[in-house]
Amino acid sequence: MDALHDPQIRVMALHALEYCERLFYLEEVEEIRLADADVFAGRSLHLDLALENALEKSEVDLSCETLGLVGRADIIKKSNGEWIPFEHKKGASRAVDNAHHAWPPDSLQVVAYAMLLETKFGLPVSEGRIRYHRDNVTVRVAVDFDARQRVLSAAARARLLRSSPNRPPVADNDRLCLHCSLSPVCLPEEDRIARNKNWSPIRLFPPDREGRAIHVTSHSAVIRRSNDQLTIQVKDADDLHFSSNEIDSLILHGYPQITTQALHHCAYNGIPVHWISAGGRYVAGLLAGAGSVQRRLRQFKALSSPALCIDLSRRTARAKAESQLRYMLRATAPHQDRPRPCVLAANSIRACVKDMSNAASLDEIRGCEGAAARAYFDIFPELIKNRAPAEMLPDGRTRRPPQDRFNALLSFGYSLLYQSTLTAIVAVGLDPAVGYFHTPRSSAYPLVMDLMDLFRVALWDIPLLGSVNRLQWDPAADFNVTNAKVWLSASGRKKAIALYESRLEEKWKHPILDYSLSYYRTIELEVRLLEKEWAGEPGLFARGRLR
Ligand code: SF4
Repeated sequence: MDALHDPQIRVMALHALEYCERLFYLEEVEEIRLADADVFAGRSLHLDLALENALEKSEVDLSCETLGLVGRADIIKKSNGEWIPFEHKKGASRAVDNAHHAWPPDSLQVVAYAMLLETKFGLPVSEGRIRYHRDNVTVRVAVDFDARQRVLSAAARARLLRSSPNRPPVADNDRLCLHCSLSPVCLPEEDRIARNKNWSPIRLFPPDREGRAIHVTSHSAVIRRSNDQLTIQVKDADDLHFSSNEIDSLILHGYPQITTQALHHCAYNGIPVHWISAGGRYVAGLLAGAGSVQRRLRQFKALSSPALCIDLSRRTARAKAESQLRYMLRATAPHQDRPRPCVLAANSIRACVKDMSNAASLDEIRGCEGAAARAYFDIFPELIKNRAPAEMLPDGRTRRPPQDRFNALLSFGYSLLYQSTLTAIVAVGLDPAVGYFHTPRSSAYPLVMDLMDLFRVALWDIPLLGSVNRLQWDPAADFNVTNAKVWLSASGRKKAIALYESRLEEKWKHPILDYSLSYYRTIELEVRLLEKEWAGEPGLFARGRLR
C-alpha cells in the first residue's frame, strides 16, 4: 500500500516507535493508550504554554498525504522569515559531555513537524527546537538530510509494523520500561522472568486498584448523572455523589433505577455497569469499548486450536484443584488431627490432579475437575467449626436456586466474582464469549467461567468459610428462606458485598513473579498473562497457587 492510500501516521506514534517498537504497536495497532502521571503532566504543560507574540501559533494541526504523516505541533514561531517548530518537554535534556542534546524520539518528532511545516507553507525549514523544562534548556535540532531520512525510515517501519499481526518483543533496554506509561499492560518484567528464571524483576505492575466498586442495593435508589458525577438518590437518605474517576465499576442489585444520562456517562468514562438479580444471579453487564480488533483476532485464532484449549484447560483445572487441596489441608492442619473425610477427600483431589495432567481431551479434564470439586465441596461441613449455627452448614453444592444458606452465599459471591472477571477481560481487550474450557451452554460467558476457576477458592471460598466460623451471619435476618430456595436478605447482601470487596483489596504474593499485589489486580494480571499465551510470550498463566 502506498503512502497515498495508507492511513496517515501520527507524529506522536513515530515518537513512540523511536522509544520502543512494542510501545508503538500497543498504542497504534492494539489501540491501548493509558495516561499516567507523566502524560497528564505533559498535557497540562501544553495547556499552560503562553504565546509571546503574533508570530507564534500554538497547537498547530499539520498533515501531508505525500509524507503520510499527521500531527499537532506544540508551537510554531516565525523568525527571519522561516517557521520553526517548538516542542515542549516536561523532562530534562540528554546530557553528554556537559552539552545538552535532544533525546532521539524528541528530535525525530520535531523534525517530522518541520517537514510537515514545509509542505504546509511551501517554505524550507532548517531547524526545530525542543524546550526541556526540567533543566530549563532549549536544544536546537538540525533538519538536515540525515534527520529527514530518519523520519522517512521511521514512517516506513511504522507502516510495516501496522500491517503485522505480531507484537514486537519487549525492549532490550529494560530502563525504558521504567518510564513507559504502558508497562502495566505490556508486562515487560513478567516476560523477562518467563524467559530467564534468574531475572530479578523490577516491580512495574500496579499492586492496588485505583477506583472502587459502587454497589447499589436499594430497590428505591435512582442513579443520575450530575456534571462529572454520579449521584445516587435513595428515599429518606442523603444523596451520595461519586466522581467518575473514583469508580471502577457500578453494580446494581435488584431493581434500582438508572437514567439514560447516567448510563451514557458510565459508557463514556469506561465505567462498567453490572446488574445482579435480587436472588444473587448475574443478569447482564454494560461494558464500554469493543477492545482491539487485533487482540480479538489473535484470541479467536488461538482458541480455535484444540491443543491450546486442552493445555489451558488442564492448567486452569490443576490450578483450581491444587488451590482447593491446599486450602483444605491448611484449614484442617495439623495433619494428625485431620478428620478422616478430609484425608479421603485430599487423596481423591490428588488423584484427580494426577489424572488431569494426563487427560487428553476436554471431556476428560472436565471429568477430573468435576470429581475434585465434588470431593472439595463434600468436606465443607468439616471446615465449619462446631459452634457455627447448624443452619449455616451446607448440604452439598446446590445452585439455580440454592437450597441452603451456605449455598446462597456461595452463589452470590460467585456472581460478584463473575462481574469482576468480566470487567477484567473486557479491560484487557479480549472477547468474553470465546473461551477454552467451558462450553457456551448458558447465558454465562465461557471465558469468564474459565478464568473464574482460578479465583473461586482464594476470593470467595476462603473468606466465606472464615466469616461463617467467625459467626458473622445471622441465619434469620441475613436470609430469605422458602421451601423452594434460599437467597440473601438486604442485610445479608450488604455483609457479603463488604466481605468480597475487602477480600479484593487484600494482598498476596505471587509465587512465580515474587511480588505482592491485591486480589483485584491479580484477576487483571491473569487475564493479561492468558493473552500472552498466544501472543508469543507464554509460560506464566495459571501459575499462581495458595501458599
Ligand atoms: S514497557 Fe518496555 S517493552 Fe513495554 S512498551 Fe514500554 S518500553 Fe516497550
